[in-house]
Amino acid sequence: MPETHVRRRAALRSRLQERDLDAMLVVDLRNVRYLTGFTGSNAALLVHADGDEKTVFCTDGRYLTQSARQVPELERLIERPCGPALAKVAADTRVRRAGFESHRVTVDELDVLDEQAGTTELVRAAGLVEDLRVVKDDAEIEALRMACAAADRALADLIEHGGLRPGRTEREVARELETRMLDYGAAGPAFDSIVAAGANSAIPHHRPTDTELVTGDLVKLDFGALVDGYHSDMTRTFVLGAPADWQRDLYDLVAAAQAAGRAALRPGVRVSDVDAAARGVVEAAGHGDDFLHGLGHGVGLEIHEAPSLAKTGEGRLSAGMAVTVEPGVYLSGKGGVRIEDTLVVRDGDPELLTLTTKQLVVV
Ligand code: ZN
Ligand code: ZN
Repeated sequence: MPETHVRRRAALRSRLQERDLDAMLVVDLRNVRYLTGFTGSNAALLVHADGDEKTVFCTDGRYLTQSARQVPELERLIERPCGPALAKVAADTRVRRAGFESHRVTVDELDVLDEQAGTTELVRAAGLVEDLRVVKDDAEIEALRMACAAADRALADLIEHGGLRPGRTEREVARELETRMLDYGAAGPAFDSIVAAGANSAIPHHRPTDTELVTGDLVKLDFGALVDGYHSDMTRTFVLGAPADWQRDLYDLVAAAQAAGRAALRPGVRVSDVDAAARGVVEAAGHGDDFLHGLGHGVGLEIHEAPSLAKTGEGRLSAGMAVTVEPGVYLSGKGGVRIEDTLVVRDGDPELLTLTTKQLVVV
Protein backbone atom coordinates (compact mmCIF):
# COMPACT_ATOMS: atom_id res chain seq x y z
CA MET A 1 0.00 0.00 0.00
CA PRO A 2 1.99 3.02 -1.22
CA GLU A 3 -0.11 5.57 0.80
CA THR A 4 0.95 3.82 4.01
CA HIS A 5 4.62 4.13 3.08
CA VAL A 6 4.21 7.73 1.91
CA ARG A 7 2.72 8.51 5.33
CA ARG A 8 5.55 6.76 7.20
CA ARG A 9 8.21 8.61 5.22
CA ALA A 10 6.44 11.89 5.98
CA ALA A 11 6.50 11.01 9.69
CA LEU A 12 10.24 10.33 9.45
CA ARG A 13 10.75 13.70 7.74
CA SER A 14 9.31 15.61 10.66
CA ARG A 15 11.86 13.84 12.89
CA LEU A 16 14.63 14.88 10.51
CA GLN A 17 13.65 18.51 10.79
CA GLU A 18 13.73 18.29 14.59
CA ARG A 19 17.33 17.14 14.35
CA ASP A 20 18.42 19.50 11.62
CA LEU A 21 19.10 16.62 9.22
CA ASP A 22 18.67 17.06 5.46
CA ALA A 23 18.40 13.34 4.83
CA MET A 24 18.44 9.94 6.51
CA LEU A 25 20.38 6.95 5.20
CA VAL A 26 18.41 3.84 6.14
CA VAL A 27 20.32 0.55 5.84
CA ASP A 28 18.39 -1.72 8.20
CA LEU A 29 16.29 -3.97 5.94
CA ARG A 30 13.28 -4.00 8.27
CA ASN A 31 13.34 -0.23 8.35
CA VAL A 32 13.60 -0.12 4.57
CA ARG A 33 10.64 -2.48 4.39
CA TYR A 34 8.68 -0.33 6.84
CA LEU A 35 9.29 2.80 4.77
CA THR A 36 8.85 1.31 1.27
CA GLY A 37 7.23 -2.13 1.37
CA PHE A 38 10.28 -3.70 -0.27
CA THR A 39 10.76 -7.33 0.85
CA GLY A 40 14.04 -8.28 -0.84
CA SER A 41 17.27 -9.20 0.97
CA ASN A 42 19.41 -6.21 -0.03
CA ALA A 43 18.42 -2.55 -0.12
CA ALA A 44 18.95 0.87 1.41
CA LEU A 45 17.06 4.13 1.29
CA LEU A 46 18.08 7.78 1.35
CA VAL A 47 15.06 9.68 2.66
CA HIS A 48 15.44 13.33 1.74
CA ALA A 49 13.93 15.96 4.04
CA ASP A 50 12.57 17.87 1.05
CA GLY A 51 10.24 15.07 -0.05
CA ASP A 52 9.82 11.87 -2.04
CA GLU A 53 10.94 13.59 -5.26
CA LYS A 54 14.48 13.69 -3.86
CA THR A 55 14.31 10.36 -2.01
CA VAL A 56 16.31 7.50 -3.55
CA PHE A 57 15.86 3.75 -3.10
CA CYS A 58 18.73 1.36 -3.87
CA THR A 59 18.85 -2.37 -4.44
CA ASP A 60 20.86 -4.73 -6.68
CA GLY A 61 20.15 -6.33 -10.05
CA ARG A 62 18.46 -9.41 -8.62
CA TYR A 63 15.60 -7.21 -7.51
CA LEU A 64 15.16 -5.12 -10.65
CA THR A 65 11.65 -6.41 -11.35
CA GLN A 66 10.55 -6.82 -7.74
CA SER A 67 11.62 -3.31 -6.75
CA ALA A 68 9.85 -1.80 -9.78
CA ARG A 69 6.66 -3.45 -8.56
CA GLN A 70 7.06 -2.79 -4.83
CA VAL A 71 8.61 0.68 -4.89
CA PRO A 72 7.27 2.32 -8.09
CA GLU A 73 6.94 5.78 -6.58
CA LEU A 74 10.63 6.40 -5.78
CA GLU A 75 13.73 6.95 -7.87
CA ARG A 76 15.60 3.65 -7.98
CA LEU A 77 19.32 3.06 -8.07
CA ILE A 78 20.50 -0.44 -9.03
CA GLU A 79 23.94 -0.82 -7.51
CA ARG A 80 25.78 -2.55 -4.71
CA PRO A 81 26.74 -2.06 -2.01
CA CYS A 82 23.71 0.16 -1.50
CA GLY A 83 24.79 2.15 1.57
CA PRO A 84 27.94 3.65 0.03
CA ALA A 85 26.10 4.19 -3.29
CA LEU A 86 23.50 6.30 -1.50
CA ALA A 87 26.15 8.13 0.53
CA LYS A 88 27.59 9.18 -2.82
CA VAL A 89 24.13 10.30 -3.96
CA ALA A 90 23.95 12.44 -0.81
CA ALA A 91 27.31 14.00 -1.64
CA ASP A 92 26.43 14.55 -5.31
CA THR A 93 23.14 16.24 -4.42
CA ARG A 94 24.80 18.47 -1.81
CA VAL A 95 23.11 17.07 1.25
CA ARG A 96 24.64 18.97 4.17
CA ARG A 97 23.86 16.65 7.10
CA ALA A 98 22.67 13.06 6.67
CA GLY A 99 21.63 10.86 9.57
CA PHE A 100 22.77 7.23 9.50
CA GLU A 101 21.87 4.14 11.51
CA SER A 102 24.90 4.02 13.78
CA HIS A 103 23.40 1.02 15.62
CA ARG A 104 23.50 -1.02 12.40
CA VAL A 105 26.67 0.15 10.62
CA THR A 106 29.96 -1.55 11.50
CA VAL A 107 33.13 0.45 12.08
CA ASP A 108 34.54 -0.81 8.76
CA GLU A 109 31.35 0.06 6.89
CA LEU A 110 31.43 3.55 8.34
CA ASP A 111 34.90 4.11 6.83
CA VAL A 112 33.49 3.28 3.39
CA LEU A 113 30.41 5.46 3.91
CA ASP A 114 32.60 8.38 5.01
CA GLU A 115 34.75 7.99 1.93
CA GLN A 116 31.72 8.19 -0.38
CA ALA A 117 29.93 10.93 1.58
CA GLY A 118 32.48 13.57 0.62
CA THR A 119 31.44 16.90 2.12
CA THR A 120 28.16 15.48 3.48
CA GLU A 121 28.40 15.20 7.25
CA LEU A 122 27.24 11.79 8.51
CA VAL A 123 25.42 12.16 11.83
CA ARG A 124 24.59 9.32 14.23
CA ALA A 125 20.84 8.81 14.24
CA ALA A 126 20.33 5.44 15.92
CA GLY A 127 16.78 4.21 16.31
CA LEU A 128 15.08 7.03 14.44
CA VAL A 129 12.94 4.71 12.32
CA GLU A 130 12.50 2.22 15.19
CA ASP A 131 10.98 5.07 17.24
CA LEU A 132 8.29 5.44 14.59
CA ARG A 133 7.70 1.69 14.48
CA VAL A 134 6.78 1.49 18.18
CA VAL A 135 3.23 2.69 17.50
CA LYS A 136 1.61 0.48 14.88
CA ASP A 137 -0.68 1.73 12.15
CA ASP A 138 -3.79 -0.13 10.97
CA ALA A 139 -1.97 -2.08 8.25
CA GLU A 140 0.54 -3.37 10.79
CA ILE A 141 -2.10 -4.33 13.33
CA GLU A 142 -3.98 -6.22 10.63
CA ALA A 143 -0.81 -8.19 9.79
CA LEU A 144 -0.30 -8.95 13.50
CA ARG A 145 -3.92 -10.03 13.79
CA MET A 146 -3.44 -12.50 10.93
CA ALA A 147 -0.19 -13.76 12.43
CA CYS A 148 -1.89 -14.32 15.80
CA ALA A 149 -4.83 -16.06 14.12
CA ALA A 150 -2.52 -18.46 12.28
CA ALA A 151 -0.91 -19.44 15.59
CA ASP A 152 -4.28 -19.77 17.37
CA ARG A 153 -5.65 -22.02 14.63
CA ALA A 154 -2.54 -24.16 14.45
CA LEU A 155 -2.73 -24.80 18.18
CA ALA A 156 -6.46 -25.59 18.07
CA ASP A 157 -5.84 -28.12 15.30
CA LEU A 158 -2.90 -29.65 17.13
CA ILE A 159 -5.02 -30.24 20.24
CA GLU A 160 -8.06 -31.43 18.28
CA HIS A 161 -6.01 -34.00 16.41
CA GLY A 162 -4.42 -35.38 19.57
CA GLY A 163 -1.06 -33.75 18.84
CA LEU A 164 -0.24 -33.53 22.53
CA ARG A 165 -0.18 -37.13 23.72
CA PRO A 166 2.14 -39.29 25.77
CA GLY A 167 4.97 -40.75 23.69
CA ARG A 168 5.33 -37.88 21.27
CA THR A 169 8.58 -35.93 21.41
CA GLU A 170 8.97 -32.21 21.90
CA ARG A 171 10.50 -31.98 18.44
CA GLU A 172 7.55 -33.73 16.81
CA VAL A 173 5.12 -31.34 18.46
CA ALA A 174 7.16 -28.30 17.40
CA ARG A 175 7.30 -29.53 13.82
CA GLU A 176 3.56 -30.17 13.69
CA LEU A 177 2.77 -26.72 15.10
CA GLU A 178 5.01 -25.06 12.53
CA THR A 179 3.52 -27.03 9.62
CA ARG A 180 0.01 -26.17 10.72
CA MET A 181 0.88 -22.46 10.90
CA LEU A 182 2.04 -22.65 7.28
CA ASP A 183 -1.35 -24.17 6.41
CA TYR A 184 -2.97 -21.05 7.89
CA GLY A 185 -1.02 -18.57 5.82
CA ALA A 186 2.20 -18.10 7.79
CA ALA A 187 5.37 -17.54 5.74
CA GLY A 188 7.17 -19.41 8.52
CA PRO A 189 7.46 -19.59 12.28
CA ALA A 190 8.13 -16.21 13.93
CA PHE A 191 11.05 -17.77 15.87
CA ASP A 192 12.29 -21.22 16.90
CA SER A 193 9.27 -22.77 18.59
CA ILE A 194 9.62 -23.79 22.22
CA VAL A 195 8.06 -27.08 23.26
CA ALA A 196 9.03 -28.04 26.80
CA ALA A 197 7.65 -31.06 28.60
CA GLY A 198 7.89 -32.08 32.26
CA ALA A 199 10.93 -30.67 34.07
CA ASN A 200 11.98 -28.95 30.82
CA SER A 201 9.02 -26.61 31.20
CA ALA A 202 10.94 -24.94 34.06
CA ILE A 203 13.52 -23.74 31.50
CA PRO A 204 12.18 -20.46 30.08
CA HIS A 205 13.77 -20.84 26.61
CA HIS A 206 14.10 -24.58 26.29
CA ARG A 207 14.88 -25.88 22.78
CA PRO A 208 12.76 -28.90 21.73
CA THR A 209 14.55 -32.24 22.14
CA ASP A 210 13.67 -35.90 21.72
CA THR A 211 12.19 -35.89 25.24
CA GLU A 212 8.87 -37.72 25.18
CA LEU A 213 5.68 -36.32 26.65
CA VAL A 214 4.58 -38.26 29.73
CA THR A 215 1.21 -38.35 31.52
CA GLY A 216 1.29 -35.86 34.38
CA ASP A 217 3.64 -33.46 32.56
CA LEU A 218 3.25 -29.76 32.27
CA VAL A 219 3.78 -29.01 28.57
CA LYS A 220 4.70 -25.44 27.62
CA LEU A 221 4.36 -24.25 24.00
CA ASP A 222 5.79 -20.84 23.02
CA PHE A 223 5.51 -20.12 19.33
CA GLY A 224 4.26 -17.66 16.75
CA ALA A 225 3.63 -17.09 13.06
CA LEU A 226 5.22 -14.73 10.56
CA VAL A 227 2.72 -12.99 8.26
CA ASP A 228 3.62 -10.12 5.92
CA GLY A 229 6.83 -9.61 7.87
CA TYR A 230 5.03 -9.36 11.24
CA HIS A 231 5.59 -11.71 14.18
CA SER A 232 3.03 -13.12 16.57
CA ASP A 233 4.04 -14.57 19.91
CA MET A 234 2.01 -16.74 22.27
CA THR A 235 2.58 -19.25 25.07
CA ARG A 236 0.18 -21.78 26.52
CA THR A 237 0.89 -24.41 29.13
CA PHE A 238 -1.09 -27.65 29.32
CA VAL A 239 -1.26 -30.59 31.67
CA LEU A 240 -1.22 -34.10 30.24
CA GLY A 241 -3.89 -35.93 32.19
CA ALA A 242 -5.35 -34.86 35.52
CA PRO A 243 -3.40 -31.94 37.05
CA ALA A 244 -1.78 -32.32 40.46
CA ASP A 245 -2.68 -29.69 43.06
CA TRP A 246 0.68 -27.93 42.72
CA GLN A 247 0.26 -27.74 38.94
CA ARG A 248 -3.18 -26.22 39.23
CA ASP A 249 -1.99 -23.74 41.90
CA LEU A 250 0.97 -22.73 39.75
CA TYR A 251 -1.26 -22.29 36.74
CA ASP A 252 -3.81 -20.20 38.63
CA LEU A 253 -1.03 -17.97 39.99
CA VAL A 254 0.46 -17.29 36.57
CA ALA A 255 -2.99 -16.74 35.07
CA ALA A 256 -3.76 -14.17 37.79
CA ALA A 257 -0.44 -12.40 37.17
CA GLN A 258 -1.09 -12.39 33.43
CA ALA A 259 -4.56 -10.90 33.95
CA ALA A 260 -3.05 -8.19 36.18
CA GLY A 261 -0.47 -7.39 33.52
CA ARG A 262 -3.13 -7.12 30.82
CA ALA A 263 -5.30 -4.92 33.01
CA ALA A 264 -2.36 -2.53 33.49
CA LEU A 265 -1.98 -1.94 29.74
CA ARG A 266 -3.21 1.63 29.36
CA PRO A 267 -1.84 4.60 27.44
CA GLY A 268 0.33 6.77 29.67
CA VAL A 269 1.30 3.98 32.09
CA ARG A 270 5.02 3.44 32.72
CA VAL A 271 6.20 0.19 31.14
CA SER A 272 7.96 -0.70 34.42
CA ASP A 273 4.63 -0.35 36.23
CA VAL A 274 3.03 -2.89 33.89
CA ASP A 275 5.78 -5.33 34.82
CA ALA A 276 5.26 -4.48 38.49
CA ALA A 277 1.51 -5.12 38.28
CA ALA A 278 2.05 -8.72 37.22
CA ARG A 279 5.21 -9.32 39.26
CA GLY A 280 3.46 -8.12 42.41
CA VAL A 281 0.96 -10.98 42.13
CA VAL A 282 3.77 -13.52 41.82
CA GLU A 283 5.79 -11.95 44.66
CA ALA A 284 2.79 -11.92 46.98
CA ALA A 285 2.54 -15.68 46.48
CA GLY A 286 6.21 -16.07 47.48
CA HIS A 287 7.44 -16.91 43.97
CA GLY A 288 9.13 -13.61 43.05
CA ASP A 289 12.49 -15.34 42.57
CA ASP A 290 10.93 -17.90 40.20
CA PHE A 291 9.74 -15.28 37.68
CA LEU A 292 12.96 -15.20 35.72
CA HIS A 293 12.39 -12.60 33.00
CA GLY A 294 10.61 -9.41 32.04
CA LEU A 295 6.86 -9.33 31.63
CA GLY A 296 6.78 -8.71 27.91
CA HIS A 297 8.09 -6.94 24.83
CA GLY A 298 6.98 -5.13 21.72
CA VAL A 299 6.34 -7.18 18.57
CA GLY A 300 6.20 -6.18 14.94
CA LEU A 301 8.73 -6.48 12.13
CA GLU A 302 10.97 -7.97 14.83
CA ILE A 303 10.00 -10.59 17.38
CA HIS A 304 11.54 -8.52 20.18
CA GLU A 305 11.33 -4.77 19.79
CA ALA A 306 10.49 -1.70 21.86
CA PRO A 307 8.91 -1.22 24.29
CA SER A 308 10.40 -3.59 26.86
CA LEU A 309 7.87 -4.32 29.60
CA ALA A 310 10.46 -5.03 32.25
CA LYS A 311 11.60 -3.77 35.65
CA THR A 312 14.31 -1.80 33.88
CA GLY A 313 12.11 -0.71 30.96
CA GLU A 314 11.86 3.01 30.29
CA GLY A 315 9.07 5.16 28.97
CA ARG A 316 5.31 4.95 28.88
CA LEU A 317 2.74 3.11 26.83
CA SER A 318 0.92 4.75 23.95
CA ALA A 319 -2.21 3.65 22.13
CA GLY A 320 -1.26 1.53 19.12
CA MET A 321 1.73 -0.21 20.70
CA ALA A 322 1.71 -3.99 20.15
CA VAL A 323 3.14 -5.91 23.09
CA THR A 324 3.23 -9.33 24.73
CA VAL A 325 2.26 -10.05 28.34
CA GLU A 326 3.99 -13.24 29.44
CA PRO A 327 4.64 -13.88 33.10
CA GLY A 328 6.12 -17.25 34.01
CA VAL A 329 6.92 -19.11 37.19
CA TYR A 330 9.59 -21.80 36.94
CA LEU A 331 10.22 -24.41 39.61
CA SER A 332 13.61 -25.88 38.77
CA GLY A 333 13.59 -29.64 38.25
CA LYS A 334 9.82 -29.75 38.57
CA GLY A 335 8.09 -27.70 35.95
CA GLY A 336 7.02 -24.25 34.94
CA VAL A 337 4.05 -22.33 33.60
CA ARG A 338 4.04 -19.36 31.24
CA ILE A 339 1.00 -17.74 29.65
CA GLU A 340 1.55 -15.23 26.86
CA ASP A 341 -0.71 -13.17 24.65
CA THR A 342 -0.02 -10.56 22.00
CA LEU A 343 -2.11 -7.41 22.52
CA VAL A 344 -2.52 -3.87 21.21
CA VAL A 345 -2.66 -0.97 23.67
CA ARG A 346 -5.85 1.02 23.09
CA ASP A 347 -7.61 3.92 24.75
CA GLY A 348 -9.60 1.91 27.28
CA ASP A 349 -9.15 -1.86 27.33
CA PRO A 350 -6.32 -3.35 25.28
CA GLU A 351 -7.21 -5.37 22.19
CA LEU A 352 -6.40 -9.05 22.58
CA LEU A 353 -4.96 -10.53 19.37
CA THR A 354 -4.24 -13.98 20.81
CA LEU A 355 -7.66 -15.55 21.20
CA THR A 356 -6.91 -19.07 22.50
CA THR A 357 -8.45 -19.70 25.92
CA LYS A 358 -6.37 -19.14 29.04
CA GLN A 359 -8.37 -21.65 31.11
CA LEU A 360 -6.26 -24.60 32.16
CA VAL A 361 -6.71 -27.13 29.36
CA VAL A 362 -6.17 -30.73 30.37
CA VAL A 363 -5.24 -32.88 27.37
ZN1 ZN B 1 6.79 -16.21 23.26
ZN1 ZN C 1 7.47 -13.20 23.88
